[in-house]
Amino acid sequence: MKPVADVVLHNLAAATLFPRPYRGKGTPVGWEVEERPAWSIAGKDGAIVWMGPAARLGAEVDLAADCVFVNGAGLVAVPGFVDSHTHLVYAGDRSDEFEMRVQGRPYLDILAAGGGILRSVEAVRQGSEEELYQEAAQRLVEALAWGTTTIEIKTGYGLDLPTELKMLRVIDRLRREMPVRIVATFMGAHAVPAARKADPDGFTDEICRDWIPEVAKTGLAAFNDVFTENKAFSVAQSRKILEAGVAHGLRPKIHADEINVLGGVDLAVEVGAVSADHLLMTGPEGIAKLAGSGVIPTVLPGTSTYLMEKHHAPARAMIEAGLPLAIASDHNPGSCQFLGAGLIQSLAMLQLRLSAGEALVAGTLHAAHALGQGDRLGALEVGRQFDAVLLDATSYRQVGYRVGQNLVRNVLIGGRPVFQGA
Ligand SMILES: [Zn+2]
Repeated sequence: MKPVADVVLHNLAAATLFPRPYRGKGTPVGWEVEERPAWSIAGKDGAIVWMGPAARLGAEVDLAADCVFVNGAGLVAVPGFVDSHTHLVYAGDRSDEFEMRVQGRPYLDILAAGGGILRSVEAVRQGSEEELYQEAAQRLVEALAWGTTTIEIKTGYGLDLPTELKMLRVIDRLRREMPVRIVATFMGAHAVPAARKADPDGFTDEICRDWIPEVAKTGLAAFNDVFTENKAFSVAQSRKILEAGVAHGLRPKIHADEINVLGGVDLAVEVGAVSADHLLMTGPEGIAKLAGSGVIPTVLPGTSTYLMEKHHAPARAMIEAGLPLAIASDHNPGSCQFLGAGLIQSLAMLQLRLSAGEALVAGTLHAAHALGQGDRLGALEVGRQFDAVLLDATSYRQVGYRVGQNLVRNVLIGGRPVFQGA
């Protein structure tokens, strides 16, 4: 029986396919990318139902009476980009800190001048839900214009329960009102607030006992994340927080090995985290632990660039060890303002030494796995959701190469055209 289509991306210059997509723990990691010329992709009810040479569309697909045709002439289709790690909801401007940092002022000076994460916490606590929504919605439009079709957004600028819940409501409103797919992560354990510095264990217990059950009750968060670092949460505290989340149906994620190797990777494997993120300092032992664990190692080249680190995450070693490496933006007000998927693709090549194909797979399919959705998002394949980006380019290889140039002309999410560029 012929598939029926209600949307067709027709007559593409090329479609970008992954012939051996990673399908989860225990399966091989394929990095191959193939370009099929003169291709069409047909969808129905949000999913891809047929792909093939444009010339065969008429013979192989029944078109619904109201079928939407998107002209792909001269354009290259890639899967919608997935940004699996952001702190997109925030308020305030920290451009002065950025300037101090590039001029070599030590971080302690910046803190003394009222900077750092606690400044964002103050701004988010003061901001109204409407203000937070409007600021974040603008950023989301920018991300969409660069081809991001799925984005994860964390809380973590509340550091008190009412503000964390306020952030979750803002993320939920974005999910309802914006076309981009949005996944919310609760990150009450982003930092220890100034007033609780003397009693981090008490703060940890409060998150586990009081906050996580309340957050779970709202049904607004899918994941529970923690910043495991010397100045944030110890491995023991992080374990408590992640286990409390699991007990309430929140899947674990972790910020690990960003500054120091404390055991965050071991903890990620132990609790079955969906992803372990940053991994700037991860060495061969950590990479060996991640191998075959099902934890998606997610590296954030925008952050190490923005912080002017001399060292970047060992992405090549991870690929060579067979890990399903993902890349994400880590967009946030302090340590990374990079947002556009194309820029992250360029940084993955320039800083992490990925090939263009590796960067594409890491920023689409593997990032979808980092959100637990690697079976339905992240690739152009029959049966998956029809999330596609059309590029005014001769090949996906131009995305990273043409640094800072937005090549995106159309974006489809669930088969629906949601963005048209100039
Ligand atoms: Zn982060």
